[in-house]
Amino acid sequence: MTKRILLKLSGEQLQGDFSSGFDPKRAKWIAEQIRPAIEDGAEIIIMVGGGNYVRGNQIIGHGIQPVSAHNIGMLSTLMNAIALTDVFNDSNLPTRALSTVEINQFIDQYTFRRAISHIQKGRVVIVACGTGRPFLTTDTAALNLALEMQCNAVIKTTKVDGVYDKDPTKFSNATKFDQISYHDVLTNPDITVMDKAAIGLAMEEHIPVIICDLLIDSNIARAARGEAVGTIIN
Ligand code: UDP
Repeated sequence: MTKRILLKLSGEQLQGDFSSGFDPKRAKWIAEQIRPAIEDGAEIIIMVGGGNYVRGNQIIGHGIQPVSAHNIGMLSTLMNAIALTDVFNDSNLPTRALSTVEINQFIDQYTFRRAISHIQKGRVVIVACGTGRPFLTTDTAALNLALEMQCNAVIKTTKVDGVYDKDPTKFSNATKFDQISYHDVLTNPDITVMDKAAIGLAMEEHIPVIICDLLIDSNIARAARGEAVGTIIN
């Protein structure tokens, strides 16, 4: 069975060692992490975040309307998608970017058929602008897209290698879960690894979500193969 995977990449992960913006070296690393998954026969669709530039909530106020702020947040994801697509193609990882918001001058508009057509040609598909609607995050957009594209699993890469009972960067006695239920993630206020709306969607539609460290070599390919890495939420 071919595995179709939705990979959620946060903007923060694309800034690499910079304090903001886009680090091509990090993007190249990600391309090399995705390549073995494609060689294994996996199909990869990426929902890219924009937090390395702007999250809507950060700039609301002083005259900036909430809708404008979220639109600017979505434009941040577009910048990432354009840059990431170039780096992937330059690394000989055939990739196409699609935007859920009409901005044809920059990249093609997302449609289900267009995405499927690229995937059938063995290309990675990167989707920009989340759902195209304000007041949401790219986590929720990722789950929504995974359902639309009938993905077998969602992989969200993070800075730590899974879900912990408390923040492992603050508490040395934090314990990692190998597996955790959607319900436990939803009801535990200390677990903030993914938007609750996204987890709610995953729970309703029974789609597994794997949380793993982007910077551990082979994590993405192993997770795509179904090996135990990080934490699986199911
Ligand atoms: N955004 C939005 N609708 C969506 C997805 C994203 O309005 O469907 C906006 C929102 O303001 C968000 C920003 O785009 O803060 C960037 O996305 P996100 O915060 O999810 O990026 P990440 O944290 O994953 O880098």
